[in-house]
Amino acid sequence: MEEVVIAGGGLAGAVAACMLARAGCPTLLIEREIAPRHKVCGEFLSIEAQTYLAHLGIDLDDLGASRIKSVRLISGQRSAEVELPFTARGVSRMKLDEVLLNLAASRGAKVVRGCAVRTISFDERGIHARCAELGDLRPRTLFLATGKHDIRGVKRPTSGTTHDLVGFKAHFCLAKRQQSTLDGHVEIILFAGGYAGLQMIEEGTANLCLVVTQGRFKAVGRSWPDLLRTVSEETPALRKRLEGAVPLFERPLSISRVPYGFVHPSRTDEPQGLFRIGDQAGVIPSYTGDGMAIALHSGCLAASTYLTLGQASSTFHRQLKADIQHQIRLASLLYAATRHPFGRSAILRFCQAWPSVMRHVTSSTRLQDRVVQRVLVGP
Ligand SMILES: Cc1cc2nc3c(=O)[nH]c(=O)nc-3n(C[C@H](O)[C@H](O)[C@H](O)COP(=O)(O)OP(=O)(O)OC[C@H]3O[C@@H](n4cnc5c(N)ncnc54)[C@H](O)[C@@H]3O)c2cc1C
Repeated sequence: MEEVVIAGGGLAGAVAACMLARAGCPTLLIEREIAPRHKVCGEFLSIEAQTYLAHLGIDLDDLGASRIKSVRLISGQRSAEVELPFTARGVSRMKLDEVLLNLAASRGAKVVRGCAVRTISFDERGIHARCAELGDLRPRTLFLATGKHDIRGVKRPTSGTTHDLVGFKAHFCLAKRQQSTLDGHVEIILFAGGYAGLQMIEEGTANLCLVVTQGRFKAVGRSWPDLLRTVSEETPALRKRLEGAVPLFERPLSISRVPYGFVHPSRTDEPQGLFRIGDQAGVIPSYTGDGMAIALHSGCLAASTYLTLGQASSTFHRQLKADIQHQIRLASLLYAATRHPFGRSAILRFCQAWPSVMRHVTSSTRLQDRVVQRVLVGP
């Protein structure tokens, strides 16, 4: 029996498996998908995420990642542009997640794919994870890394979060001229009932992510083509970018009820030994492009806590909450402001008049460097 079982092989689960296996800890990672797949994600890698990936020896140039140096904020006819405080990278999750999972396996973690953990419960003997393909598991320590997907028995308490949203992702091959206009930038487009992010990733592919309220999606009869058409009509810049673009997916990927603003409470009745990582521990509004950094940070922090303190998951959750709650709160407040026409217009005017404030906000809504360094340097 492995010492640690990890449910979910996204970024959080895979990085935790890499760290545990490297330290010689017998680790079993269970991933639901049998083969690499695309995921709903803007695929914008912040500097903090890049720091963790570099620490693992992952070379983003080898993956063909794009470089992004500035952000363009767009709403209707208005736009404001500001240089990012770092060079971001763009790379598809299909590639990145696979590289990390392979790394975990090469370091000695046992990676089982095509199996899903169905329920988790607790009794006097500890943690009980039920998995149709592997049977009943009784790990002493379980890392819960199933991302946006909740498992029966350990659902996240999402009251107080914004969870009326639907997220979409599509890849496009843009017309040459639009590709060169977009190159080096990430465009954040605010519109009534949602926002979009557009950027280049590897191999001349553009990633478009749209996050809209269920109400906005319902208003167009839950039709993706109609949603894209109406948003493009409201945003000339987006309409232009997509002129002559070739969609690379038959239909977009989608996800609903993402609980923006969720931070796992550090005090719960869950037993020691259950470590929630990635989106299971905290969900930052996606426009910040820092969700992957939080996933990597939480996976590394959980592994290092386990390796030094054993099953002390409440210590881990307390530390993680202190590391991420401020930026998640700030990002959620700003997102709430963009839901009102006045808020969108005020944010745009503000950014046009004071680009340095926009730069400051892009820094304050992300994981702080000292927090990353603390985990990388270790106790
Ligand atoms: C619309 C949108 C855009 C975003 N854009 C960005 C961005 O540009 N930059 C950024 O940094 N972040 C972005 N994010 C956030 C980022 O995608 C997440 O924070 C990150 O993927 C979380 O990683 P994770 O490992 O926790 O979960 P995931 O990446 O979701 O991985 C979870 C894994 O668990 C597996 N799994 C699920 N259920 C089970 C089960 N029962 N048993 C076994 N395995 C299971 C899944 O197959 C999956 O592989 C975005 C999010 C959204 C919604």
